[in-house]
Amino acid sequence: MDIFLAPIKFYSTLLLQDLVTELSKRFSFRIHVIDLKINLDDFYSIDRKQYFSTQIIAEAIKLTDEFNGKIIMLTDVDIFVPPLTFIFGEAQLNGKHSILSVCRLHEEFYSGNSNENLLFERTIKEALHELGHCYGLRHCIDWDCVMHSSNGIEEVDIKGNTFCRKCISKVEGYK
Ligand SMILES: [Zn+2]
Ligand SMILES: [Zn+2]
Repeated sequence: MDIFLAPIKFYSTLLLQDLVTELSKRFSFRIHVIDLKINLDDFYSIDRKQYFSTQIIAEAIKLTDEFNGKIIMLTDVDIFVPPLTFIFGEAQLNGKHSILSVCRLHEEFYSGNSNENLLFERTIKEALHELGHCYGLRHCIDWDCVMHSSNGIEEVDIKGNTFCRKCISKVEGYK
C-alpha cells in the first residue's frame, strides 16, 4: 500500500522533494512520484477561474488502476467544489484518491511575502489531512490533530501537524 504523489501543474520541485522526504519518515510505505496525464484545462471553470476538484479526481480514477495504494495529486492551481468558494483539498473517504492545492498555502497569497518554511508546514499538514480521509478518518475536534477541519489559512496554521491518538490508530503504516 504505497503512497503516490502525482504533481499536476505543480511548480516547486523542492517542495515535492521535501514532501517525499517527510512522508517517508512518517510512513513505513514507499513514497513514489508519478506522472498522470491529466489536462486540467478540461476541468476549468471560466466563471470561477478555478478548477473543479471532484472532476479531476474522477479523471484520475480512470488512469490509476495500476497503482496499489493511496494517490495524492498536488497542484498549484486553485480548486473548488460547489458551493464553497475554494478548498485546500478533497479526498475520497476510505478511498484511494485525493487532491491538494498549494495555491492558498503560499504565504504570498495573503501577505505578498513568500515563506518557504511556512509553505512546507502547511503542505505537510494538508497532505496528511487528505491522506487521513483516504484512510477513513473524518474531521476531528482536537485542534492538535491534523484531521481538524480548516476553512481558512489561520486554521491550518493553528492545528497540529500530526494525528491525535484516536485518529492515528486508523492510519495504516504511520510510524
Ligand atoms: Zn477534511
Ligand atoms: Zn484526531
